[in-house]
Amino acid sequence: MRLSKQLATVTAVMLGTVALMGQGQAQAPAAGPARAQPAPGGFGGTPILHTVKEGKLYWAIAGAVVGIIIGDHGVILIDDGFAHVDDVVKKLTDKPITTVIETHDDTDHINGLYTTPNADKLKIIAMEDNWKQQWTTFKWTEKPKAACPQSPMPPAPNVIVRQDKVATTIDGVKMVFHHYGPSHTGHDLIIELPDYKVAFVGDVVFNNDLFPDHPGLPPQDHNMFWKSEKRGTPLGMFHNVDELLKLNVVGYVSGHSSHLMSKADIKRVRDDVKTDYDKEAKMTRSGMSLDDIRKAVGEDKYPPGPRGGCIAYVDLPWYAYNETKRDMEELKNNGTVK
Ligand SMILES: [Zn+2]
Repeated sequence: MRLSKQLATVTAVMLGTVALMGQGQAQAPAAGPARAQPAPGGFGGTPILHTVKEGKLYWAIAGAVVGIIIGDHGVILIDDGFAHVDDVVKKLTDKPITTVIETHDDTDHINGLYTTPNADKLKIIAMEDNWKQQWTTFKWTEKPKAACPQSPMPPAPNVIVRQDKVATTIDGVKMVFHHYGPSHTGHDLIIELPDYKVAFVGDVVFNNDLFPDHPGLPPQDHNMFWKSEKRGTPLGMFHNVDELLKLNVVGYVSGHSSHLMSKADIKRVRDDVKTDYDKEAKMTRSGMSLDDIRKAVGEDKYPPGPRGGCIAYVDLPWYAYNETKRDMEELKNNGTVK
């Protein structure tokens, strides 16, 4: 069922989708041969604005999604991933941006902070491991800095969430913070907005193809990927989606989707990935090597080099193989498997 129908059942109404022309400079994609103009809503393109409730709740997408919540006195952003989000906000309200909540620390979700006014005075809310990740390893560990120059560090989180089900009210807006263990990263933060019956889920589950300029993700990855260097794992995603499905919401705003995802949408992504993961885990238990599994599922046709550009990319068979092997070894060491 489409979003607008679902939202009609609650006070939140999907009012429309508007491409915002004439925004500031968006972040340029990685240098390379001449490219076509970035598409509206894509990385580096003009942000596209979606309205959940006029005057109250919006989200904009330019590659990654930024949630825009109008509070009593200021504006709360969920992620701040593309340049000049403040230009989008100015078209909606005169209130200043006061708070940014980070779903995780990937650059496409936080690097807009460089262009947000008074960024060093904002309340920046994140999971504890997000904060640690930013202070310890930070961005250039993802790929060599020479090949993928990154910006200096943006202002770090200064309000830390450590638990699941942390209910609070910020600037008159009710929120519940959730953390269901590792999924896209080890520190994914989900923001439930009970008054609007939506949840912002970051990259726990999404369905846009993030690498259209590259050979594309193999079908068995279902457009999803996980950050192994930040303790992300598809195993955790299965559990995270199971928990998300229990929330009393009618839709999910993901970090990379062009529509509000329904319960059926996120369940489908989860089930599709799990079906292939389970198949690959079974191959592992039958004694196949990782190379053989990659060949068997066609993953070998997608060399890791170009895929993902400046981010670390690890394919689904890698997770299925290594996580299954690890469990087999640990069980064997404990004497429970012969
Ligand atoms: Zn992302």
